[in-house]
Amino acid sequence: MNVVVVGGGLAAANAVAELRSQGHTGDIVVAAEEPHAPYERPPLSKGILLGSAEPDAAFVHPRDWYDEQQVDLRIGTVATGIDLDRRRVRLGAEELAYDRLLLATGATPRRLPMADASGAPVRYLRTLDDALVLRDGLTEGARVAIIGAGWIGLEVASAARQRGAEVTVLEAAPLPLRRVLGDELATVFADLHREHGVDLRLGVRVAGVEHDHGKAVVHVEDGRPVVADLLLVAVGVTPADALAAQSGLAVDNGILVDARLRTPDPHVFAAGDVAHHDHPALGTRVRVEHWDTAIHQGRHAARVMLGADEPYTRLPYFFTDQYDLGMEYVGHVDAAAGYDALVVRGDLAARHASVLWLRGDRVIAGMHLNDWDAIDPLRAVVGGPATDAVRDPSVPLADLA
Ligand SMILES: Cc1cc2nc3c(=O)[nH]c(=O)nc-3n(C[C@H](O)[C@H](O)[C@H](O)COP(=O)(O)OP(=O)(O)OC[C@H]3O[C@@H](n4cnc5c(N)ncnc54)[C@H](O)[C@@H]3O)c2cc1C
Repeated sequence: MNVVVVGGGLAAANAVAELRSQGHTGDIVVAAEEPHAPYERPPLSKGILLGSAEPDAAFVHPRDWYDEQQVDLRIGTVATGIDLDRRRVRLGAEELAYDRLLLATGATPRRLPMADASGAPVRYLRTLDDALVLRDGLTEGARVAIIGAGWIGLEVASAARQRGAEVTVLEAAPLPLRRVLGDELATVFADLHREHGVDLRLGVRVAGVEHDHGKAVVHVEDGRPVVADLLLVAVGVTPADALAAQSGLAVDNGILVDARLRTPDPHVFAAGDVAHHDHPALGTRVRVEHWDTAIHQGRHAARVMLGADEPYTRLPYFFTDQYDLGMEYVGHVDAAAGYDALVVRGDLAARHASVLWLRGDRVIAGMHLNDWDAIDPLRAVVGGPATDAVRDPSVPLADLA
């Protein structure tokens, strides 16, 4: 059986490692668009920008691992078409036959055409090359404007402030991260950034971007323009599902896969940021744009390709590091359905706490701030019943597990 993987990111790298560790001896080809072997993206907005991590540390496997494992890693190679009937992937002029095909094409930053068209120094952050260019601009006294106060925007704001840049963040919503965290926790992040000197402007609409003598001038509705040496646009990502759509696979905010990460074509699978997965434990479809999901879905898809018949049930998990705040989150709060109650153990203002989100009689998500022992008890509680003990913040989290 030969396997082709399209996409050279975290999901792809973990899938091929799992194929080999499960004893698969057939051919494996990875078509990877970027000019690098698969690497982890979390350091791109943290250690690499701060200068505390080197790019080499981000690679998932050492470069010679692919040869040792007889994985044909083709970097700088774009898959341009899939023929589902003939089970062929087009890589430029070449056609490659597959028995199993994994689509792990990830996601790409949502563009802001008015910024792109301005000619101003506009940056996006997705790739290692993006990070190295961005790092050069985060210098002492540089004026940095960031559109979008999501995870990437805030992590870059943190790195930029720590490097001595002046930072303005423009966000349309009334609080950063509000859709994910709700008002109480979103306020913690707003306070954190303001305390570190970020000019965080919330509820702001960007009206236009101009280029003025090497600077970006960001015009906002009802407000003074922001002049910056560098403008980062960080307004989310879109799943890289065009290749799948062109081939006739069903896509809707990503490639639609069942609980086992299978598309309706029995030979084709998807994992990571591009997979819109029917999650059996959450009872809904989710497309998760996080490191942990890319790792575990990549591995899971590999096992299913080899014949395992297991649904992917792992709960979404993510983490962030900003200034001296580290946090981990597990679970899922559907932005439309929301939550009924929040239970806080510890002190949010001191940024040392654990938090549970409840809906109905269930615990739907949990998170800690700077309380690294909390993640295991949180994992044990999330998904379970919202008992009286869960709702009582005087009962230690560890006693709930
Ligand atoms: C700056 C940054 C910081 C992050 N920090 C965190 C964090 O702190 N915590 C967290 O949980 N998550 C974080 N994430 C998210 C996490 O990195 C992603 O969820 C993860 O990288 C997804 O992996 P993936 O393999 O699904 O996709 P990707 O990493 O996007 O990889 C897909 C690859 O496929 C390639 N590709 C696409 N189309 C084709 C094609 N047709 N042919 C060949 N190749 C193709 C792409 O070029 C890309 O290299 C961060 C992301 C970024 C960008």
